[in-house]
Amino acid sequence: MSKTRGWLKSFLLVELFRGLMLTIRYMFSGKFTVRYPEEKAPQSPRFRGLHALRRYPNGEERCIACKLCEAVCPALAITIDSEPRKDGTRRTSRYDIDLFKCIFCGFCEEACPVDSIVETRIYEYHFEKRGEQIMTKDKLLAIGDRYEAQIASDRMQDALYR
Ligand code: SF4
Ligand code: SF4
Repeated sequence: MSKTRGWLKSFLLVELFRGLMLTIRYMFSGKFTVRYPEEKAPQSPRFRGLHALRRYPNGEERCIACKLCEAVCPALAITIDSEPRKDGTRRTSRYDIDLFKCIFCGFCEEACPVDSIVETRIYEYHFEKRGEQIMTKDKLLAIGDRYEAQIASDRMQDALYR
């Protein structure tokens, strides 16, 4: 009986028509494709994009040059030099992230005790010259200054996730 049914199914091309019906159904359903760059996919507040160094509201750098981020970085992408200031506090004199080495794991921001180094939502960037992949302290602070509102809001939402 089952042999006859199988033969009939093959003869009447039942599986083929089932497949075609599925194709036709998807032809008229909504598209999943995102038309980048006009359309953007939604981002999580925990998105790990380009790095930034943050400041306190009074303009003071958050980073205290503890070098925890440098120590935890699995890709050895962070290089920090530090020196004491006149007021006795310690600050970085050099803070470089080599984006060719970075694997965007987020360990640096996890390790930072003062929420200084963070990863932003920025993922659209490119380099045109040798050496531009090194994110220097000035570049990182400039990104932090420009996107502080977004970063602060993401950090607050991030705290709710944990
Ligand atoms: S995201 Fe990961 S790999 Fe990149 S600098 Fe931070 S710790 Fe290093
Ligand atoms: S960014 Fe944070 S973890 Fe890295 S040296 Fe500065 S304070 Fe320490």
